[in-house]
Amino acid sequence: MSANTAFEISVFPGDGIGPEVIDPTVAILQTLRDRIGGFDLRFRSEAAGAAHYKETGTALPEEAMSRADKADAILLGAMGMPDIRYPDGREIAPQLDMRETFELFAGVRPVRTLPGAPVPLGDPRAQNLDFVLIRESTEGLFAGRGKTVFDGPADRPTAAHDTQTITRAGSERLFDFAFNLGAKRKERGHAGQVTCIDKANVIGGFYFFRQIFDEVAARHGVSDPAHMYVDACALNMVRRPWMFDVLVTENMFGDILSDLGAGLMGGMGMAPSADIGPRHAVFQPCHGSAPDIVGQGLANPTATFLSAVMMLEWLADTHGVADCARAGRVLDKAVEVAFRDNGLVPTEYGGSSGTRAITDAVVAAIADGRAEAGLDA
Ligand code: ATP
Repeated sequence: MSANTAFEISVFPGDGIGPEVIDPTVAILQTLRDRIGGFDLRFRSEAAGAAHYKETGTALPEEAMSRADKADAILLGAMGMPDIRYPDGREIAPQLDMRETFELFAGVRPVRTLPGAPVPLGDPRAQNLDFVLIRESTEGLFAGRGKTVFDGPADRPTAAHDTQTITRAGSERLFDFAFNLGAKRKERGHAGQVTCIDKANVIGGFYFFRQIFDEVAARHGVSDPAHMYVDACALNMVRRPWMFDVLVTENMFGDILSDLGAGLMGGMGMAPSADIGPRHAVFQPCHGSAPDIVGQGLANPTATFLSAVMMLEWLADTHGVADCARAGRVLDKAVEVAFRDNGLVPTEYGGSSGTRAITDAVVAAIADGRAEAGLDA
């Protein structure tokens, strides 16, 4: 690939602490681009979210979506504020609309603990976690969003029915993605085992989900596909989380388990994510706009830095740009080194390391070469 590959990045800082974690991330990405070279990153910031809705009556402007559609990747902070809602009471969540529009079916949620960062489980094995949860993000129970059917009188319904949708096509592409990721992780020394998380013993749709998983597993040469019921998975994520490698599950289960995963890492500010579709990808921290800490310099930017690592890796993989992959490795290592060498304790763990302290430690690890030491070994 040419040494001048330029990537257009649509940036949606969004609401609350969104801009507070996005600004340092973009600055660090610019530093890495200039330091490593061989590729370009061009950022364009877009206004969208709850505050934008309050100001203009539109949460996600069409022109911004159309530019995002053409961009190479989308970097997002957080959107939504509890006190700004649509007239029908729903929260403003343009990120969900983006998932639907761009068919971002694979929600990738790594659960990786950083050496030196405080974690809630005492077992030493829980301090070296490295597994990935893949959350189906276009169907499942979320497909019933806004379509609840009520029985009885409108002013005092007697029952509410929400529908879960699981399709063959949606499940096949999800499981293909999971097995491909498992194979990639195996090459990097992980077990590479993919486990289907469901409730196939109770709900017919999940039995269907599991059957498709087994079919796709066979196509990927896996003769003994691994399954686990979601309740057992929740138990094991607390008791023995080191047993997992790649978990793949339905939308709502994934929503819940990914927060449990973030908890294993110590908090929402540590948990990165990527939502990947056939042609688009959105990278954002797992956390929301955290209105309770906005404007105080307390937001932990680590999750956004690690989401940017995922963005660099994805751009490098899909376009074959080695320097971009290297930038991802350098940023990943810089975050690791920052926690290892500085005794950082983010405020969500009860410590005093805010946005500035964590950013400065990461920037220093890049600037003085610690983030690149040993990378080529
Ligand atoms: P959403 O529904 O949009 O996911 P939420 O209200 O469930 O949002 P968050 O906004 O993620 O959740 O906040 C949950 C808690 O975690 C809050 O107390 C918030 O202050 C804290 N928190 C979230 N992100 C961070 C962060 N980056 N740094 C520090 N604390 C955070």
